[in-house]
This record gives sequence, C-alpha cells and structure tokens, in this order.
Amino acid sequence: MRAVIDLGAIRSNTAELLRRADGAAVMAVVKARGYGHGAVPCARTAQQAGATWVGVAQLDEALQVRRDGIGGRLMSWIYTPQAPFDQAIEADIDLGVSSRWALEAIAQAARQAGRKARAHLKIDTGMGRAGIPPREWTETVDQALGLGDAIDLVGCWSHLACADVPDHPSVRAQKDMFAWAVGAAELAGARFEVRHLANSAALLTDAGANWDMVRPGLAMYGLSPIPDLASARELNLRPAMRLESALALVKHVEAGQGVSYGLTYRTDRATTLGVVGAGYSDGVPRHASNRAPVQVGAHRRRIAGRVCMDQFVVDLGPHAADAAGDKVVLFGSGDDGEPTAQDWAEAAETIVYEVVCRIGAHIPRVYVG
Ligand SMILES: *Cc1c(COP(=O)(O)O)cnc(C)c1O
Repeated sequence: MRAVIDLGAIRSNTAELLRRADGAAVMAVVKARGYGHGAVPCARTAQQAGATWVGVAQLDEALQVRRDGIGGRLMSWIYTPQAPFDQAIEADIDLGVSSRWALEAIAQAARQAGRKARAHLKIDTGMGRAGIPPREWTETVDQALGLGDAIDLVGCWSHLACADVPDHPSVRAQKDMFAWAVGAAELAGARFEVRHLANSAALLTDAGANWDMVRPGLAMYGLSPIPDLASARELNLRPAMRLESALALVKHVEAGQGVSYGLTYRTDRATTLGVVGAGYSDGVPRHASNRAPVQVGAHRRRIAGRVCMDQFVVDLGPHAADAAGDKVVLFGSGDDGEPTAQDWAEAAETIVYEVVCRIGAHIPRVYVG
C-alpha cells in the first residue's frame, strides 16, 4: 500500500483558506504527522502558499519538524513537566501555555538559556480540555506579565468545542468568553502579537472567530470538517491523499462461500474474490468490515467480510476481468469515481480526521504536484 500526497492540492487549499481568512494570518496545523500526510512536506508547501505559521500539538514532534528544516514561526501546545523546554526555546518554538506550572517551568528554562521564551496563554472558554479556567485568568495573566524578564506573552488563544455545529449555543458563549479574556489581559497590560481561536470549521462557517490568526488543519488537507453541511468540493477544497494498493490474488469461488474471519460475508452467487494486502495494522479500519467501498479498475466494489490485520477481501463479481497486480484505490479525491476518505469515515462510523491520521507511519508517502 502507498499514500500518494498531492502537494498541489495542499497549495490550492492553503490559498483558499488564506482567502477566507480575510487578512488574518494562517497557521498550518501539521500535528499527527500532518494528519497522516507527512508534517514536513505539508508545512513547507503551506508556507510557500502563504501560511506564516506552523502548528504542531506535541512538543517532541515540533522539535523534529524544526530539525527537519521548517523555519519561521512554529507553535506547540502539548507537553508535560518533563519536557525539554530548553530545547524548545533554543529552537525558537512558541509554546501554548495552559497552566501556571508551565509558566514557571518555561520561565526557568528561559533564564537558563539566556533567551526569552515566546508564550501564548490559553483560556478555557468552555471546552473543558486545555486552558486556564476563566476564574484564574486575570491572576495568571498577571503572573505571566510578572515574568516579563523571561517570557514574552505574544499570544492569547482558545479552542472551540462545537465549531462544526455553527448554531450550537456554546460557539457564541466561547467567542464571548474569548473576547472578555483578551480584553481583560490587554487591560492588565498584555500586548499580543496574535489572538487566535478558529480551527477549520470556525473558519469555513464564517463564525466571526478569525481574530489575528486562524489555525486550520483538516481543511488544508482538502477534507471537510463539516460534512453534514458542506462537502470538500462545495468548500472548494481538494483532498490531498490517495491511498492505493493492488490485488495480491484473484480467484473464482462458488455460491455460498464464506469470506474472512467469522465468515460474516457469504457469496450469493458464483463469483470472483480479490485479496488486497492491507489491513488494520496499516490503518485500514476494521470497523469498515463489509462496508467500506474501494475502486478496482473502473469499478466501485465493497469490502467483503472482516478486515484482517494485513489483508481484506473484495467481491469482484462473476464477470471480473481483474488480475493480481491491478490497482485498488481505497480512497482519493473522488475525481475519478473513487471513494473518498469521507466515504470511509461514514463506513467506519468515525470522523475523517481519524481515517487519514491512522494510516500507518510505515506506509510510504509518495509526493506529487
Ligand atoms: C488540531 C487543532 C487545530 C486544527 O483543527 P482542525 O479541525 O483540523 O482545523 C486547531 N487548533 C488546535 C488547538 C488544535 O489542536
């Protein structure tokens, strides 16, 4: 199996997001190995297309992205007290800060490094995940400003829980809380370079949450974060990943043949089965057993029986002319009639984010465009 990544699509998606950002800076979010597309090639392409920031969740991954040659502004927001803050400061990585311990630890590392750290203070506006609770906000801002010898408080930020449901009351409440937090911090003396709140869904639904910078991830890869409201195509986005494999063998079987573990599929006529050498160890969701579509030659087929660790079976029909070695497309842009990652998400009853980022790191990524 291999994943073909169309960097031309990343470029055009980034341009589309810049247009929608309407003057706000764009942070290209490349966490989770660029949502499975490869962090470094995608970051570099997005930068070339005008994204001035790169965002990665895990600090270890941010350090690797920096070592691999991504310059410019780079931000990370997930780490533990054991994290190498000295390396982060040395590598000029902006740090999201969601706790008072982190402020102290980062300030200490900055003093040792003899260089100020760049911090973005995060307010928990209602998601209940990372971020400073509102009742602790003003004292934490004061604490950060008091560490001015070691910390540059360059950003104020938060994250929306329900941006994909634009009329969910929490969206309004979180936006209001964010505006309050920014105002309170600025009143206390903070001078932020960037105030940022919007992910892909907030940007694409015109939530009015753009502020100084937007942080799209999924949309940059050409996938819709709001599939019930608008498809990628309707959003003028092009899916960048095509996942393809080949038939390992083809054989004829009689009617009534059970297929794969548990024999959950049974042929209703004499037919041809094709075996594909990709399974859940490669990131093909087992939950898509008997459901997910694939394209073999010019034909749309369906997985027959359970997805195994390293293989799955497709019923190619009684008149199949397919042969071992023929290409099988699991998903792609949809432009040539193939299924999309969104089709797989629906077949596996999950979100498209999980479909692309679970494709194993060992699967070769081939870059085109
Ligand atoms: C992942 C992430 C994003 C990007 O989210 P998308 O829905 O992929 O656009 C933005 N901000 C934060 C804090 C994130 O963790």
